[in-house]
Amino acid sequence: MSMVEESVVQRRWWVEQWPEGVAYVAGLVAQDVQDALLETYGRWPLCPVCGDGDPHALEVEPELGPDPHWVCHKAGVSVAPVGALGPALGSGASSS
Ligand SMILES: [Zn+2]
Repeated sequence: MSMVEESVVQRRWWVEQWPEGVAYVAGLVAQDVQDALLETYGRWPLCPVCGDGDPHALEVEPELGPDPHWVCHKAGVSVAPVGALGPALGSGASSS
């Protein structure tokens, strides 16, 4: 079972307890995957917007809300909707 599937299973249980939270699941799963990768792989997803300076990871915003996006706080830009990051990075970074 991949870490994404594991997260989805946990969040599915969570939604059963709180059906109104279903709109938040994409953002929560993205943060679960980000946390898991931080331990095993490192910062992910790296910001594709800032070309120089220290490499930094994008953050999910809002952390708990509908329509989550990957955001670079340094540049103050929204890079891509959660779930559509792969094409935005132009590489095989998609975890699916
Ligand atoms: Zn950035």
